[in-house]
Amino acid sequence: MFTKILIANRGEIACRVAATARRLAIKTVAVYSDADAGAKHVAACDEAIHIGGSAPKDSYLRWERIIEAAKATGAQAIHPGYGFLSENEEFAQACANAGLVFIGPPPSAIKDMGLKAESKQLMEKAGVPLVPGYHGANQDPDLLQAEADRIGYPVLIKASAGGGGKGMRAVEKAEDFAAALQSCKREAINSFGDDAVLIEKYVQRPRHIEIQVFGDTQGNYVYLFERDCSVQRRHQKVLEEAPAPGMTPEMRAQMGLAAVAAARAVNYVGAGTVEFIVEQRADGSMNFFFMEMNTRLQVEHPVTEAITGQDLVEWQLRVASGEPLPLLQEQLAIDGHAIEARICAENPDNNFLPATGTLHVYGLPACATFDRAATGVRVDSGVREGDTISPYYDSMVAKLIVHGRTREEALARMDAALAQTHIVGLATNVQFLRHVVTCPSFAQAQLDTALIPRETAVLFNQEKVGLPLAAAAQVAHALVAERALAAQADASGWIDPWAQRDGWRSHGASSRAFMVEFHDAPHTAQLTRLHGGGLQLQIDGQTAPLHFTALANGALDVRYGDQRTTANVYQKGDVAHVFTAQGATQIVAIDALAHAGDVQGEAGRLTAPMPGKVVSFAVKAGDAVKKGQPLAVMEAMKMEHTIAAPADGTVAELLFAPGDQVTEGAELLKLETAA
Ligand code: ADP
Ligand code: ADP
Ligand code: MG
Repeated sequence: MFTKILIANRGEIACRVAATARRLAIKTVAVYSDADAGAKHVAACDEAIHIGGSAPKDSYLRWERIIEAAKATGAQAIHPGYGFLSENEEFAQACANAGLVFIGPPPSAIKDMGLKAESKQLMEKAGVPLVPGYHGANQDPDLLQAEADRIGYPVLIKASAGGGGKGMRAVEKAEDFAAALQSCKREAINSFGDDAVLIEKYVQRPRHIEIQVFGDTQGNYVYLFERDCSVQRRHQKVLEEAPAPGMTPEMRAQMGLAAVAAARAVNYVGAGTVEFIVEQRADGSMNFFFMEMNTRLQVEHPVTEAITGQDLVEWQLRVASGEPLPLLQEQLAIDGHAIEARICAENPDNNFLPATGTLHVYGLPACATFDRAATGVRVDSGVREGDTISPYYDSMVAKLIVHGRTREEALARMDAALAQTHIVGLATNVQFLRHVVTCPSFAQAQLDTALIPRETAVLFNQEKVGLPLAAAAQVAHALVAERALAAQADASGWIDPWAQRDGWRSHGASSRAFMVEFHDAPHTAQLTRLHGGGLQLQIDGQTAPLHFTALANGALDVRYGDQRTTANVYQKGDVAHVFTAQGATQIVAIDALAHAGDVQGEAGRLTAPMPGKVVSFAVKAGDAVKKGQPLAVMEAMKMEHTIAAPADGTVAELLFAPGDQVTEGAELLKLETAA
C-alpha cells in the first residue's frame, strides 16, 4: 500500500479521499489554486502545494505542475477525484511516465471509453446492448439526416466528446433535424473542441440506471449493483438512489454482467460506472441500453457505499497498489436503501441559476462523515461555515446521503436531514430538494428523467411557511436574543419583554406595533402583553397568543394560535432566515426588534418608523452605546416604539427633543459606529 498520495482535486471529493487515506494511515498532499488557499480540502490534508491561479486551466488542469508537486513531496500515487483530470488519458500516461501511480484505469481504457461514438462501436463488438442509433465516423450532414430518418423520431443528437449533460439536442421531427445538428455541433466545438456527433433513438420516459463496476490488475471484475439517477434537470443528476426501485434480481444480474463485459472489453482497472438508459414498457418490463462509461469514481458513489457497506476509495487505493479486489461477487450483498441529494448553490426558481456568496450560516444535520449505523445520515462536504462559494468551480456545496432499511425510511430520513440543513448567505436548492423528495411521484417511485419538468407545479415557488408563523418565529427569536443580550432570563424560561432593560422596555404601553415584509409585501404587526401574563401577536388580520420556549441547539418551540413548529432563526441584517420542519422562509421586521438579535450590526436605521412624537432619549451626545441598547422612544398610533442601536458606537448628536413631532423617516439621532 502507498504511504503518501497526492489528491489532484478540490471540494468535497478531495476531502472525502483524504478521509479514507487518513483512516488507512496514508499521508496526503493537497493541491490548491489562489481561490482555494484557505479551503477545507487544504486543511484536510497533511501537506498542500499551491499550483496556480483560480481558473481551473491555471491550476487544477495544469498537470505538469501537479506531477511536479507529487514528485517534490514524495507522493507515490495521484488520486484525480472526478471532473478535472480524472478522465484525461494524457494525464494518466504522464503519471506513469513520471513513475507515479494514477489511481484509476489504464490510459488505454480512458481513451476507449472517452468518446461516446467509438465506445459504442467497441460495446457493439462486446455484445453489450445499445440504443438503436448511428455512431459512425462519417459526419456528412445528409447522411446524418438519413440515419435519423431511418432510426425514427424523436431522436437525440449527442456530441461524441460530450459530458455533464452538455451537447445534446432532442429532435421531434425530420424538418427540425438540420438546425438542431448545427446548434449541437456549435456547442460541441465550443465546449469540447470536437464536433463529432452520434444519433440515438430518443427513449420515451426513460430511467437512468447505472452499474458500479470494479476491476483489479489480476483481471478480476465485480459489479456493486445499480444506482437510479433518473431525477435530473437539464440531463444532470439531482437525486440518486440505490437500489433502483422495481429492479428484479434477474435484470440486476443481466445489467451487472453487461457492465462487467463492458469493463472487460477495455481491460478496465479500478472504479468505473457503466450508464444505461432504461426503457419502461407498458407491460412493466424494462429494456436497458448502454449509454456511456465514466472511467472514474462518480459523484453519487456514496449510495453504493451505503448499501454495500464498502468504502470505494479504499477499494481504489488497494487496487491501484496492486492488491486484488477486496471481495468476490458472491460476497457482495445489498443492505437497505440509500438516497443522495446534491446540495448546490443555485436558485431553482430562477432556472437553477448558479449562486455565489459566503456561507454565513452552514448548519448540517447531526451525523458523522461515515455514519451509516448511528443516524443513517452522512454528509460529504467541501466547505465550512464562513467559506465562500466562488464563481470558478462547480456549484455543488455538499452531498447529503441517507440510509434506511427501506426506501420509505430513507425518504423520511432525507426529508428530516434536508430540514436540518440551514444555509444562509446564498441561494441553494435545499427547499427544492425537499419538494422533490416529498412529491407523490418520487415518493411512489414513479421515476423517469422527466419527473422534474412534469411536476413543475408542486416543485417550484412553493412556500410552506406562512406569514403568521414566520412572524411568530422571528418575534420569538428576537426576544430570546434580547434575553441573551440582557442575560436576564427568568429561571422558568419565560421571557417578559416588558421587564427588561433593553429595546423592549415599556414606558407604560402594553402594546408595540412594528412592520414586517414578507414576499416583498409590507404587513403591520402588533405584539401585546396580556393582563394575565403572556403575549399576543396580531399579524395579517389574525390575533392569537404567542408562546415559545428556547430548546437546546438554538432551536425554538414556537406556538402561535393553533400552529406549532420547531424553528431555527438566523438574523442577517434586517432579514430573519426561518427554518422549520415544514420548510424555510425569510421575513424582514422593520423595527428595533429586528436589530436585537442582529449578528451583523449594519449601519443605522435611526429613523422614525412612522409619523409620531418623540417620548424620550435614553442617551445623550457623546455616550458610548452597545449594539441593541435602546436609544430613543417614540410614540405613534398610541403605541411606543423603541429605537435601538444597530451596532456598538458613539452618539454624535440628538436631532430632536422630547415632545417633538416627527415625520416618517426623519432621522432622530446620529450614531457613529465602529465599523
Ligand atoms: P456523475 O454524477 O455522473 O459523476 P457529473 O457530471 O454530475 O457526473 O459529475 C462530475 C462533474 O463534477 C464534472 O464533470 C465536473 O464538472 C464537476 N466537478 C469536477 N470537479 C469537481 C469538484 N472538485 N467538486 C465538485 N464538482 C466537480
Ligand atoms: P453525459 O456524458 O452528458 O452524462 P449521457 O449520454 O450519459 O451524457 O446522457 C445524459 C442524460 O441524457 C441521461 O442520463 C438521460 O437522462 C439522457 N439521455 C441520454 N441518452 C438518451 C436517449 N437515447 N434517450 C433519452 N434520454 C437520453
Ligand atoms: Mg452520463
